[in-house]
Amino acid sequence: MRIILLGPPGAGKGTQAKKIINEFNIPHISTGDIFRKNISERTEIGVRAKAFIDNGQLVPDDITIDICLERLTYKDCENGFLLDGFPRTVPQADALQEFLSKRELSLDAAINIVVPEDVLKRRLSGRRVCVHCGASFNIETNPPKLEGKCDFCSSDLIQRSDDSLETVNERLEVYKRQTQPIIDYYSNKGLLKNIDGYQDIAKVFEDICKTLGRDPK
Ligand code: ADP
Ligand code: ADP
Ligand code: ZN
Repeated sequence: MRIILLGPPGAGKGTQAKKIINEFNIPHISTGDIFRKNISERTEIGVRAKAFIDNGQLVPDDITIDICLERLTYKDCENGFLLDGFPRTVPQADALQEFLSKRELSLDAAINIVVPEDVLKRRLSGRRVCVHCGASFNIETNPPKLEGKCDFCSSDLIQRSDDSLETVNERLEVYKRQTQPIIDYYSNKGLLKNIDGYQDIAKVFEDICKTLGRDPK
């Protein structure tokens, strides 16, 4: 399966990604996670990306396309992958298309998680993420079993600096301006699957599995 996950910040892409990769046994490729890892390791890419991420802007296409397409050449992507947070612009979608076409590969689905904007803002303000594995929790809607600790690896949970109200508003505007157009792009290719993301996490996952033609385990 080669799947991409679309949806605005806070739609639940990361949360569903963790479940999808278990079900389909494919690697989870999150450009946001790759950037955060580079930032924490203070690499050159990390330093360049940080300035954009902190302001709620997208990282420029040249950097983002390079790191994502490079990751797709790893051996673990041979049997498929789940892209979470890429593509986010039309040039990124074109670059992915070119990469796949050259290899005579194609996407199976573009899953678009749809959630009302006021719900997104509430979710993002309550989001807490694991410093180690990146898992997302929510102090209101999806609390960890033990306060402040990750269910999966017991590491500390923190609030992402770009989840501040001001940056969230900017990210939602950027989404509408730069990412919304790729919904039409995948719709025109017949790949778009809209999923109602304003349901509990298990139900959203069930709907995603159904749309991919599979009964969840
Ligand atoms: P994204 O990767 O799309 O930005 P996340 O998966 O990090 O989104 O989810 C955003 C926040 O909303 C997190 O705090 C997460 O725990 C919470 N969340 C995710 N899915 C749901 C859902 N279906 N219902 C309620 N809260 C959710
Ligand atoms: P969310 O889904 O909650 O918006 P991500 O972890 O996917 O968060 O992304 C965090 C930030 O990383 C984005 O706001 C953006 O600055 C940068 N980023 C992630 N993916 C991309 C991308 N495909 N293109 C450009 N910037 C990206
Ligand atoms: Zn963890």
